[in-house]
Amino acid sequence: MIHLTNVTKIYKQNNVVALENVSLDIERGEFVFLVGTSGSGKSTLMKLLMREELATSGEIFVDGKNVVKLQQKEVPYLRRALGVIFQDFRLLEDRTVYENVAFAMQVIEAPRQLMEKSVGAVLDIVGLSEKQKHFPSQLSGGERQRVAIARAIVNDPKIVIADEPTGNLDPETSWDIMDIFQRINAAGATIIMATHDKDIVNHMYRRVIELDHGKIIRDESRGGYEKFTDRFK
Ligand code: ADP
Repeated sequence: MIHLTNVTKIYKQNNVVALENVSLDIERGEFVFLVGTSGSGKSTLMKLLMREELATSGEIFVDGKNVVKLQQKEVPYLRRALGVIFQDFRLLEDRTVYENVAFAMQVIEAPRQLMEKSVGAVLDIVGLSEKQKHFPSQLSGGERQRVAIARAIVNDPKIVIADEPTGNLDPETSWDIMDIFQRINAAGATIIMATHDKDIVNHMYRRVIELDHGKIIRDESRGGYEKFTDRFK
């Protein structure tokens, strides 16, 4: 589903090597945590997958598409295979819950009937059917993030990319969000989530990829937030 070969990303503005020679395979249906201190390259890796940034060298394939060589007009097709979720939700404040989610389908010019059906279905999955006429300002942080998740999954993406989705939420609300991610994953989506949340990573016991100064220093199929041997230090 995702293949990276010797990927390096150097930001030209400041000559920072954000990723160095990263090679990685993620299969369909995997649930992957990206961990590492701030500045280790997690966001950069995710931005390369969605082609928000271009790699300096190396190969990146996402859902069979050669991301580095993709022509500009093909980028929307790549983005359709991806659902993206951020720490700060990024909702449209002047639109209702329903409209925020529907917007993601209007962008791809989905037929109206399909839109109504799909928006209703995803709002149900995230438990917000009753609040579809509310505006973001009338919602709690956890509810806002659930709107963002509904928006990310409404076009049925194969891959969900989440950059610290629980970073602004309290522990209980974070677990509600993780429950939704688990269900999306069980329904077939591949999930890549960058996080600093030690508890979540340790309890979920999924694949953990750790970055340090732009390099992969650990890749465990069932890992914890810290390397097993470091937990005893
Ligand atoms: P993380 O998500 O793990 O915090 P990032 O991928 O955001 O790490 O950052 C990796 C490195 O790249 C850091 O040194 C950061 O300062 C640098 N960086 C990130 N984005 C940019 C950018 N747009 N321009 C220049 N440097 C950047």
